Amino acid sequence: MTTDAKPRIKITYATLRNDNEELHALYEAGVQASTAGLGRHHRNFIDGLWVEGSAGTFEVRTPIDTDIVLGTFARGDAGDVEQAVDAARRAQPAWRRTPWQDRLTILRRAAELISERQMVYGADMAWEVGKNRLEALGEVEEAADLIRYYAQTMEHNEGYDHPMDNLGDASVHTRTVLRPHGVFAVISPFNFPMALAAGPIGAAVMAGNTVVFKPSSTSPLTGINLVQAFADAGLPAGVVNFVMGPGDTVGEALQTSRGIDGIVFTGSYDVGYRLYKSFSTLWPRPCIVEMGGKNPAIVTRKADLEEAAEGIMRSAFGFGGQKCSANSRVYVDAQVHDELIRLLVEKTEKISIGNPISREYWLGPVIDAKAVARHQQAVAEARQDGRVFSGGEHLTDGDLARGFYVEPTVVGLPAGHRLFQDELFAPFTAVSKVGSLSEALALANDSTYGLTAGIYSEDPGEVERFLDEIEAGVLYVNRRAGATTGAWPGVQAFGGWKGSGSTGKAGLSMYYVAQFMREQSHTVVD
Ligand code: NAD
Repeated sequence: MTTDAKPRIKITYATLRNDNEELHALYEAGVQASTAGLGRHHRNFIDGLWVEGSAGTFEVRTPIDTDIVLGTFARGDAGDVEQAVDAARRAQPAWRRTPWQDRLTILRRAAELISERQMVYGADMAWEVGKNRLEALGEVEEAADLIRYYAQTMEHNEGYDHPMDNLGDASVHTRTVLRPHGVFAVISPFNFPMALAAGPIGAAVMAGNTVVFKPSSTSPLTGINLVQAFADAGLPAGVVNFVMGPGDTVGEALQTSRGIDGIVFTGSYDVGYRLYKSFSTLWPRPCIVEMGGKNPAIVTRKADLEEAAEGIMRSAFGFGGQKCSANSRVYVDAQVHDELIRLLVEKTEKISIGNPISREYWLGPVIDAKAVARHQQAVAEARQDGRVFSGGEHLTDGDLARGFYVEPTVVGLPAGHRLFQDELFAPFTAVSKVGSLSEALALANDSTYGLTAGIYSEDPGEVERFLDEIEAGVLYVNRRAGATTGAWPGVQAFGGWKGSGSTGKAGLSMYYVAQFMREQSHTVVD
């Protein structure tokens, strides 16, 4: 399942060009290897061994074509979780005593393996969740870069072990040391199945914790690939354990286990916020929850409308709007509304929709029938309460009938409509006219969520005001590559405010690894 070939250019989410022939040839080879592996059986990974689950198996089919079985997967239960937690507890003392430099060496090897296997892992991910090739390859590279970047932050902070001041008595030596909590549970979502597992696991483990990882049941294959890379890099048995299965059994068992010292969850607001409120019982346990978004773009009358339309189209419809950072609401100055809609519709109607494994299609399916239903319900409401400017249909012609394909959809609605509040996770963006930047900012901030936001304006004063007043963790100004999407490790810190995240510290940035440790002060007198 590996290929050593690496592209010469780095694919990121801001990569706009899709014309590197060498890259396409490498990807086609990855697709071939991936396709040959479809249909296999995959197991859990506990204490360094691949093992069956105690609750049987489950099957995953690709959203691209539901006739194609991706594989069967071991279904774990609460007992498997406890075994995995026990293995992680046993492994943790030796792992935390392993010098942090040695821990980083193993993790950097894992990052290299992920990059080397980028083509097959990317193709597996494309089959699994329906990403197009640049999105899939970008995510695999992001996973590797997250580990590399976090390792660099650990080094820059000298392993978080620092001498402190002395009050005049030379016989007293004081230090402050960040030390691991113990065992972290890592629960990841379907939409970034590799990056949002590799980042948390990499950070937890380099900090000296051990991990029990549960992937989304929609995207277990990418979880397997990641765990395989960690194992092949030489992580000792028990440091990373992996249990597949439903959220309401395996996920619940993880969050209620007494053997778990901290949890990092990425997923929806409903599940994440409930987990946040219930996780601590005997004493506070660290609980990093990264949740959903309803991310606004503001377009003022001083915007470059061509740039705005391009950025909105890319962020609203890239990966079918199934990014936590997707741009799902637009507040545009009434004076430029019609021209923005014209440009946005023009660009949206040029989007090619189909099997995203194939080079010619930019937009693949949504993840499942429920996502199609949410999209169709939203379209029905928009037809009734506003106007559909573009798209709206469920596509069922020919091969598309066997997958979950919908048209990218631009609608106009009054700003108070529920479709400006609820996260849909589908290729659907709602536009409302506003009279001023003040109105746009007030509407943008009137949300449970606060993940990403964007503005298009050529006026520095407006931009300054946006940066000062908007309530969100990740801001973009005049970005053609994406109005609200496309963060990269070490480049854009990525974390939510309000109902989008719990800690106020972002991923992809220099404060992340420290969240997996607790501070201890050492005062030693000679
Ligand atoms: P989800 O909440 O349905 O599931 C996320 C994970 O939680 C899955 O592994 C699931 O099995 C598990 N889970 C479900 N019920 C559980 C329970 N009771 N206890 C413990 N675990 C449980 O989310 P999803 O559909 O996989 O992902 C999409 C969501 O994730 C969107 O809301 C999106 O905005 C959000 N997201 C946020 C970020 C971010 O960085 N803020 C990034 C990606 C996705």
